[in-house]
Amino acid sequence: MSQPEVRVGSTAQLFEPEESSCDACGEPLDAAVEDDDHESFVPAGEGALLWFRDGVVREEKRPLCAACAAAIGMTALSRWATEEDEG
Ligand SMILES: [Zn+2]
Repeated sequence: MSQPEVRVGSTAQLFEPEESSCDACGEPLDAAVEDDDHESFVPAGEGALLWFRDGVVREEKRPLCAACAAAIGMTALSRWATEEDEG
């Protein structure tokens, strides 16, 4: 018979600074894009997760990289248009 695994944590782990990374793909958000001579900043996006619980609409904002923000936004627009067409 195996013993249950015990893990110990501290409250300090709850307050560690969160690395800024895309919530969808995990890419770091403050990474600069470099080409031969230039370094440019890629603006980060933000997504809002909405859900309904206990009679209250709740919103949680999550960071997204530019590519994921565009992809998720276009998918949402496409689904919205499809629902509009279907009545
Ligand atoms: Zn991403």
